[in-house]
Amino acid sequence: METIFEIITVWLMDLGIYFVLYFLMAGLAFFLLWKKFTKFYLPRRIQSKPKANDAQIRIEIKRSIITLLLFACFDVSIYYMEKSGYTLLYSNFNDYGIGYFFLSILLMFLMHDTYFYWTHRIMHHKSIFKYVHKIHHESIDTTPYTAFSFHPIESIIEYSISFLLVFLIPGHILSLIIFQILSTLYNVIGHMGYELYPANWYRIPFLKFKTPSTHHNLHHSKFNGNYGLYFTWWDRWMDTEFPETRERFEEITKRPLYREPAPSA
Ligand SMILES: [Zn+2]
Ligand SMILES: [Zn+2]
Repeated sequence: METIFEIITVWLMDLGIYFVLYFLMAGLAFFLLWKKFTKFYLPRRIQSKPKANDAQIRIEIKRSIITLLLFACFDVSIYYMEKSGYTLLYSNFNDYGIGYFFLSILLMFLMHDTYFYWTHRIMHHKSIFKYVHKIHHESIDTTPYTAFSFHPIESIIEYSISFLLVFLIPGHILSLIIFQILSTLYNVIGHMGYELYPANWYRIPFLKFKTPSTHHNLHHSKFNGNYGLYFTWWDRWMDTEFPETRERFEEITKRPLYREPAPSA
């Protein structure tokens, strides 16, 4: 029987990892794009009338910390369920082979993409939007810190994909960790307020289905469309993609990055 001390230790360690991931990724993106090289990257700013200010960022960080506290609680529950043999997580690579290891990561993204699209659309239903998802949409001009800025109920909804994954598909513990790290990274990229994908993104086979930052940014500025997370498929199938997404992306990415004018002779 685990002691409360052991449970708290696991929770604190997990929380520490979340903090490092969030503040490293969001903090680095914020420092580089919003502070250090802001002039250089300014042409890639997605919204034409930026509004994000310090007060917005402070509240985003506060809400994200609450989200991470909750995520760490749920991780602890998965950890102990795994220890008791209730999940489909495994630790021996030979159980399913290396091919399945990579396939399982892809499966996790596809399942999460589907889960996210539909839960997101439901949260946008006019009868419930104001109770939960409105909090995330208070950030119209998003920053890297918007990534986990949720109402606590939305944090639970967002986390629940992990519960589904560990009970529905066999997954190596490392594949789940890779999925969570990449998921956090994509989440930060989707909210960073700048478009850094290459201009030819929509012409690259397969990759063109991966949403660029503009996709989710337009969701924050226009609300009722572009509900997808990683891929554009669900938005296209359900006819909820803003038609101007690609045009807006190409308009932003063709702007030249700022160069200091050469000193006059
Ligand atoms: Zn939304
Ligand atoms: Zn968002």
